[in-house]
Amino acid sequence: MAAAVQWRPARVLALILGLAFIIILFHLHVFDRDPVVVVGDQRISLKKEKGKPFAVDPLMKMTGPPEGILFGPGEAPRVNATLLSLVRNEELEGMLQAMDDLERTFNSKFNYPWTFINDVPFTKRFMEATKAKTKAEVFYEVIPKEHWEVPAWINPDLVASSAALLEQQGVQYSGMKSYHQMCRWNSGMFYKHPALLKYKWYWRVEPKVHFFCDIDYDVFRYMQDYNKTYGFVINIYDSPQSIASLWPSVEEFMAEHPEYLHPNNALQWLTDSENRPEHNEAAGGYSTCHFWSNFEIADMDFWRSKKYEDFFNHLDRAGGFFYERWGDAPVHSVALGLMEDRDKIHWFHDIGYQHIPYFNCPNSDKCKGCEAGRFTDGQGLDQEDCRINWFKFAHMN
Ligand code: GDP
Ligand code: MN
Repeated sequence: MAAAVQWRPARVLALILGLAFIIILFHLHVFDRDPVVVVGDQRISLKKEKGKPFAVDPLMKMTGPPEGILFGPGEAPRVNATLLSLVRNEELEGMLQAMDDLERTFNSKFNYPWTFINDVPFTKRFMEATKAKTKAEVFYEVIPKEHWEVPAWINPDLVASSAALLEQQGVQYSGMKSYHQMCRWNSGMFYKHPALLKYKWYWRVEPKVHFFCDIDYDVFRYMQDYNKTYGFVINIYDSPQSIASLWPSVEEFMAEHPEYLHPNNALQWLTDSENRPEHNEAAGGYSTCHFWSNFEIADMDFWRSKKYEDFFNHLDRAGGFFYERWGDAPVHSVALGLMEDRDKIHWFHDIGYQHIPYFNCPNSDKCKGCEAGRFTDGQGLDQEDCRINWFKFAHMN
């Protein structure tokens, strides 16, 4: 005959505590096999197939505007912001098309001023045609010469021989001097333009980009009210050959300035080597995953901070804007990933966007002309998508 179990109070208590502990572990998703990210109030499980990058599909659950108190047209004063385009006179048609899209989906409701910037004066034709596209204020500015010129410490012979080498490696635009100047200006100069000093916020808009979805709240106010620094829509890998010595230069800088590393940084995102390990290796330890900077909604005070100024000057002196082809996208991304609180970086999943050849296409009836979930219109480019890395490292808990 089996001995009767003796239900002593201590045993009962231990059993209850044990059960409670297991329930808590379940709630903390300790037993989940797939990584889980938390974006806003959503928990999204990321499926990992062996040898493949994390699946992106679950992110398409993210469709609506960010949660929180949002302000529609006329519900709150505008914040201190401008729509910002560095653009050439020859790109007028593409600019008008991008303006049409942004005015239709957002700005006709909020009337943020446009600032157009150029390294040469805008033509009358450019100014008249762009002005006619908006009822908001429009400003036309020329870049101060000293912001655009190649710095004196750059050796033109070395630039020429480096360009030839980069060309061989298939680096796009390597021989185009103005492209290098543009990348440097977008990295460390634009926010110093005298006409921009009065603004805190900007939304970068390039000619020929598309916006697909109605945006019914003031995105700048969202950024301000929710204490964000930087908003993006697309994350992709860079060509490691264009930034071979960027990460080593950054490491040098961070060794001199360990105090600039933010305690809530995204270093793991920057240094990931699980997906596309060959990129990490070729770029000296940087995954090359970056926020695609042809779209940016951001706070210029970050770029204007001493830490970023020191960071930019270090890179500028290293010469990689001209001897390699460092883009403003990896430069901004690395700076943000190291020196900013990663919780202040926001994915505008609800802004439908295209800059050839990539899309951000929300699954929402607010969007027209964009196939939900589509990432690229090119063949074999899906592997360039690294959005999932951001979610894995920046939001996983
Ligand atoms: P990609 O997106 O990397 O292919 O480069 P883009 O040719 O689109 O250039 C990025 C942005 O800088 C676009 O808004 C261009 O209009 C602008 N841009 C590039 N080079 C120049 C330049 O030499 N002068 C001016 N004014 N704008 C430029
Ligand atoms: Mn472009």
